Amino acid sequence: MPQRSVIPDPFKFAAEGRSLTGAIPLAELSRLADVLLDKSGEVQFSLAGEMGIDRKPRMRLAITGELRVRCQRCLSSMAWPLGVDVLFELVRPGQPIPEDELEEDEFDAIEATPDMDVRALVEDEIVLAVPIAPRHEECEAPRPDGGAVKESPFASLEKLRKTDSAE
Ligand SMILES: [Zn+2]
Repeated sequence: MPQRSVIPDPFKFAAEGRSLTGAIPLAELSRLADVLLDKSGEVQFSLAGEMGIDRKPRMRLAITGELRVRCQRCLSSMAWPLGVDVLFELVRPGQPIPEDELEEDEFDAIEATPDMDVRALVEDEIVLAVPIAPRHEECEAPRPDGGAVKESPFASLEKLRKTDSAE
């Protein structure tokens, strides 16, 4: 059964400078199910609360791991190192997120609800971090003329069969 990681009071968590670490099996990241070629590993995360020098409550989330994804050029598997390091500023539920905060690249503002679901937050950040079209630094696209991929000796039979069934 997946364990839950919940922060009852995110503001207290930040004010007291608490931290939380854990690991999530890749198999439990349901929104990445279509992207991951290998779901046997896990990702590690650490979440640390802090008060900024401006006395604003923040949380730093770091996630590391290695994901197996499909290269969109050669279509084979590739290892993609996951490295997320984000600083969130906590905003009370219902409070408007200040516009000047949004312009700051230094951190993201998040609405911090009681019983904050850490695993959902981690999954959100991984989904945002995973590239839409990952590619090896160097590789070649499979050649459609069959130069790279040998044609199976059964391929011509397959074609015959398809012709037969089409008639
Ligand atoms: Zn490739």
